[in-house]
Amino acid sequence: MQGRHFLHIPGPSPIPDRILRAIAMPIIDHRSAEFGALGKEVLEGSKAVFKTSQPVVIYPSSGTGAWEAAITNTLSPGDTVLMAETGHFATLWKQIATRFGITVEFIPGDWRHGADPVAIEARLAEDKAHAIKAVMVVHNETSTGATSRVAEIRKAIDAAGHPALFMVDTISSLASVDYRHDEWQVDVTVSGSQKGLMLPPGLSFNAISEKALAASKTNKLPRSYWDWQEMVKINASGFFPYTPATNLLYGLKEALAMLQEEGLDNVFTRHQRLAAACRAAVKAWGLEVLCQNPDEYSPVLTAVLMPPSHDADRFRKIALEKYNISLGSGLGKVAGKVFRIGHLGECNELSLLGALSGVELGLSAAGVPHRSGGVAAAMASFEGQDKANETAV
Ligand code: PLP
Repeated sequence: MQGRHFLHIPGPSPIPDRILRAIAMPIIDHRSAEFGALGKEVLEGSKAVFKTSQPVVIYPSSGTGAWEAAITNTLSPGDTVLMAETGHFATLWKQIATRFGITVEFIPGDWRHGADPVAIEARLAEDKAHAIKAVMVVHNETSTGATSRVAEIRKAIDAAGHPALFMVDTISSLASVDYRHDEWQVDVTVSGSQKGLMLPPGLSFNAISEKALAASKTNKLPRSYWDWQEMVKINASGFFPYTPATNLLYGLKEALAMLQEEGLDNVFTRHQRLAAACRAAVKAWGLEVLCQNPDEYSPVLTAVLMPPSHDADRFRKIALEKYNISLGSGLGKVAGKVFRIGHLGECNELSLLGALSGVELGLSAAGVPHRSGGVAAAMASFEGQDKANETAV
């Protein structure tokens, strides 16, 4: 097919040319001084994105590995943890914990909201014996487009006076949505390379608090590859306990430079701006955004509900075949019922407008009932946001 492919799934996100070029470097000796300098630079540099001064470890793995690392380094078989059913990814993280013999109390959710700080506070307040060892929340639920209010959940844990560890999955929010590991006293932040960091899949992260590092000295779950103690010790000189993903680390160095050049706050504002325009398009089409709480609308992706009796996957297939655009599928409970538009990482007004054109054309081609004018509404949203900003200056 001619022309460029429009990759608008909510990660992996498109990789900027600068990063592709950085990755295309000759491999070097991972025990050389040159590697040690690279290792130190990216391990230190990553801290700014997590907003932490505490250790960040980088695994050559997908995000699922970093989920497992968070669990196996802090918990013991038979421990109880509290999680919120925000969607497919919270369900998968729960499954991993369960496989390691952890009892998961799963606060039920409708897959249209983020984690409820009030429900978390109420459950923790009841737990006078402090049987709950950790609260585990997915920040941006990639399957639904709802972003949980992590700062409010921190306040809820404090209001209940509960000592549980706080673990947060930022796999699809890091470097796209405001996030503060230290200020929000998160104990383990889990993340991945293939979304806001604009890298290929293959790197995952744990940002680790002192409290979590202390827990890893006494907890009982076995681990080897994921062990923090050895990683943190060897990372101090920029090296890894095994062969690192050298070329992805070159890419990470470039990604961190790009984020610093744009400024993290500007990156967050750009994501919110794109998301608002995308929602304006969905509204104009007469379709429904899956997330029902405007305070939790995701800056990273918008999940769109299909009209009843229309299959989202059939629509996505037609849009791909006719217009060369990849949209995210519905996952788990919402499979076939929603499609997801990614607007993260290397994305700007025109790339989003191109994608929205693909969606609008695809809806027509698939015979999905909708009103035209979504793209025009997104353009009007950008213009309106610009006017509001001018007035504010
Ligand atoms: N958590 C969230 C929020 C995700 O979006 C994903 C993947 O999309 C994962 C976890 C799993 O990460 P991975 O597929 O890199 O193992």
